[in-house]
Amino acid sequence: MSGAERIEPLIDSFGRVHNNLRISVTDRCNLRCTYCMPEDVTFLEKSELLTFEEIAQFVRIVAPLGIDKIRLTGGEPLLRRDLPRLVAMLTPIPGIKDIGLTTNGLLLAQQAQPLFDAGLRRINISLDTLDPARFRQITRRDGLEHVIAGIMAAKRAGFAPVKINAVSIRGITEFEVVPLARFAREHGLEMRFIEYMPIGADAWEREKVYFAHEILDQLERDVAPLVPVNDYDPRSPAMEFQYTDGGGRVGMIASVSRPFCRSCNRVRLTAEGKLRNCLFALDEIDLKPLLRNGAPAEAIAALVRGNIAAKWEGHEINTARFIKPLRTMHAIGG
Ligand code: SAM
Repeated sequence: MSGAERIEPLIDSFGRVHNNLRISVTDRCNLRCTYCMPEDVTFLEKSELLTFEEIAQFVRIVAPLGIDKIRLTGGEPLLRRDLPRLVAMLTPIPGIKDIGLTTNGLLLAQQAQPLFDAGLRRINISLDTLDPARFRQITRRDGLEHVIAGIMAAKRAGFAPVKINAVSIRGITEFEVVPLARFAREHGLEMRFIEYMPIGADAWEREKVYFAHEILDQLERDVAPLVPVNDYDPRSPAMEFQYTDGGGRVGMIASVSRPFCRSCNRVRLTAEGKLRNCLFALDEIDLKPLLRNGAPAEAIAALVRGNIAAKWEGHEINTARFIKPLRTMHAIGG
């Protein structure tokens, strides 16, 4: 296998073509969001993490299979030392069109420019509240002002759009929707709300989800009227809307109330090299020994192909059959 020579795409038995790879670069985090992870965690040893060279090797193997979109995540990806070096290693790989990053923004003020200069172009910053006390309640840490500084640094560095992700939890998000939406409109950011999913450490119940349609009602009532965007992308998990007064866009990721599994195009690589074909997968394939011990690219490609081919129809959050994966979000890569 060489360069970006195209072979069969990564397709599963439901006809879904996979072009989107999420790579976790660390399981460590400098926040402890209650919906995501427990307070006390045993993190991976550094030697257990894939090296940047191993990550790039994997991307060179899957790019010819049709992976053209990458998102770096974690844990908190900015805790991984020298992340711009990884971006610079991935950007020139033939076939890779798009590299994004999801971050909590705490360390972004220092890193936004080097990341942009390395070739990163898309950035999502997670922020659930603009209230410092509530920030501490949700994240079990301080640092809201650093996140805001990170958002502003991302804008200055040239990222456009800068997207802000808030997890939507009943009892919390009702109070945050309007301030967050106004903040986003004021600063030219794209606000996105993600329905709270059963993938964190806390006990989850459907009643704890503050649903997308409730957020839309609130936005229309208290912010401005919205209409669906014209360039709606059916493969994107976000349902996108735009304010009719020109105030920008807002996205709803309705993973619980309107699952988008039927158009799923994603596969995930954990920080220690486990391949997962679904956020909620119960099985994973350990690729690190192969990447570390010089296995032939064809052997690794065949494992990836088999893993995708065997992908299930979709998560079963809304059924009694649902089984929560053993890993919480921070150890998968959100
Ligand atoms: N640390 C980075 C961050 O905060 O963006 C990247 C990793 S974090 C796990 C990625 C995203 O997953 C964040 O936007 C976070 O809010 C979201 N997330 C974590 N747990 C979630 C849950 N139970 N339901 C929905 N989204 C969740």
